[in-house]
Amino acid sequence: MKGTTMINFNKAVKLINQNTQTLPIVELPLIESLGFVLAEKIHTKTPIPAFKSSAVDGFAVNLKALKSASENNPVKLKIQGIIQAGDTNKYILKQNFTFKIFTGALVPENTDAIIMKEDVIEEDDYIIVNKVPEKKENIRAIGEEYPQGKLVFDKHTVITPPVISMLAFLGIGKVRVFNKPKVSIIVTGNELKDYQEKVKEGEIRDSNGPFLVTALKALGITPVFVKTIKDDKNLIKDVIQEATGISDIIITAGGVSVGDYDYVKEASAEVGFNEIYWKIAIKPGKPNYFAKNGNKLLFGLPGNPVAVAVAFYMLVRFAIFKMMGVKCVPTKYDSAPLLFALSKKVGRMEFVRGRYINYSDKNVYVEPIMKRESHMIGSIALANCLIHFPQNKSFLPRGSIVDVTNVDWFKIGY
Ligand code: AMP
Ligand code: MG
Repeated sequence: MKGTTMINFNKAVKLINQNTQTLPIVELPLIESLGFVLAEKIHTKTPIPAFKSSAVDGFAVNLKALKSASENNPVKLKIQGIIQAGDTNKYILKQNFTFKIFTGALVPENTDAIIMKEDVIEEDDYIIVNKVPEKKENIRAIGEEYPQGKLVFDKHTVITPPVISMLAFLGIGKVRVFNKPKVSIIVTGNELKDYQEKVKEGEIRDSNGPFLVTALKALGITPVFVKTIKDDKNLIKDVIQEATGISDIIITAGGVSVGDYDYVKEASAEVGFNEIYWKIAIKPGKPNYFAKNGNKLLFGLPGNPVAVAVAFYMLVRFAIFKMMGVKCVPTKYDSAPLLFALSKKVGRMEFVRGRYINYSDKNVYVEPIMKRESHMIGSIALANCLIHFPQNKSFLPRGSIVDVTNVDWFKIGY
């Protein structure tokens, strides 16, 4: 895939998939594992729940003692004792007695049901029952959620806070996960100033650097190396060289097109990166370089901030996710009707920035953001989805059903 051949989006995804290896497994303390991806299957070692417990605050009863209790025929039961959650004693309920019991407490032997506190009348050390509960009512049964030895989480599960909750409940203190990639960011451009500096006409503030750093942070990745440099071939080469030693992925922004000062391709080739593709038939972001050096990947993104954001979302994240062991593809879409007609030239697929909206006809539409040139950052900053405008189409009428990628910068996976 050399030279000037322009590939389509699906082909780019395929090439990234073919050239990206999932990273080795590491073992982490449970609390450190948020946002990583399980590299092992998790089975229950006991039934879950492991013991019979009360689902409510109430009273443990034996049905024989209640016979045909009713409003006209109330039954009085003496309180034999109190069982709190955490009490590990094994009590036995005596005939014609009741235990006062709290949510989560171990149910005493000989109990058929727990009557809710609200459904009895408490009098000194007695309760009055005027309704017979169902057998097993308000008792959490052993194994009702999982039997012993049941698969709870498969390999490749993304560890979210509730997954941590379950693993903690199962007593798993350490988990085996796929490592996350070490990522470097190199931003190039003679016109760039730090965002905190004053700019003269002709200069702009670097927005790609802050974007890339925080887009990675949103995935729980702190870049190992971040540098903004001038369009100087030797400097770019030195910096790529330096980053190569410490990274799994290098992301550059700017300097990858056909301009006289676009040195990223040449510089990375001199460091030992081999081109896999250079141009993709997408908009924004036609110049979109992908190269490999051993197992190390380099994504040479264009300079336009919207193109950077779209390429990062649709392509770079895919490589990151694959390294992290996430099973996902960026070629999976939702669909929705389009709120306004769209037009473009044929030849490139356009990822039009859009927003889902609840329209007055009660349907959910996608509304394209109208100011959509690739230097107009507002379009991507306000978008919550990308509308796929197919490569070979020049017009999409209002109401046509379009493919849509949801945009969630914090989501691990698509
Ligand atoms: P390039 O791909 O280097 O030719 O840059 C394309 C366009 O993106 C130019 O208008 C640049 O000024 C702009 N650009 C490049 N890098 C950045 C950056 N880091 N932040 C904001 N805009 C940039
Ligand atoms: Mg440039």
